[in-house]
Amino acid sequence: MVMLLETIKNLEIFRPKCDATKEVLHAIADLAEDISPALPYLNAELGGWDYDDRNHVLLLKLSAGKWVTLQPQQIAIRGCRDIAEAQALMEWIKNQVNEIYERRHAILPRYTGQAGLKVMEILKLLPRTNCRACGYATCMAYAAALREGEISWENCLPLQEEKSQGQLAGLRAYLDSYGWRALDEG
Ligand code: SF4
Repeated sequence: MVMLLETIKNLEIFRPKCDATKEVLHAIADLAEDISPALPYLNAELGGWDYDDRNHVLLLKLSAGKWVTLQPQQIAIRGCRDIAEAQALMEWIKNQVNEIYERRHAILPRYTGQAGLKVMEILKLLPRTNCRACGYATCMAYAAALREGEISWENCLPLQEEKSQGQLAGLRAYLDSYGWRALDEG
């Protein structure tokens, strides 16, 4: 396999001075190679939260408050529990860059991110009865959580009923058009 990203030149793991909680670590890796050709494919495969194709910046939102920012020659991670988790996450993203770039001919690149999803557009595709079966007080609150990937479209039980299949298909198509996925999906 020809690797796009072979060398992490420098890896710094540190506790940010501005973080009042003092309970998370950040990590920054400087890269020997330019990974920008892989970014639209990583965005497609990993469900990027936001992607700026002009400036080659991809933002990934992971579970448990972790974020990864990829730029042409830098990867930054924030929200790690400890050094071991920061190192493992950096190794994971390095492998993802290489594996996904290797498979790029079979992947449709994506140039939009989940940040483009609008809560009001999601709301329009929900039953809007505020029945609370999903555990949220209102459909609006559910729509906001769904946009963030904190819950699944499956959590709205009325939407799973036979009579709502057309509406559900519309919601899923809208989410898919921005590469939506739940935070705990791989
Ligand atoms: S289960 Fe569906 S219809 Fe009921 S409150 Fe939640 S989002 Fe609205």
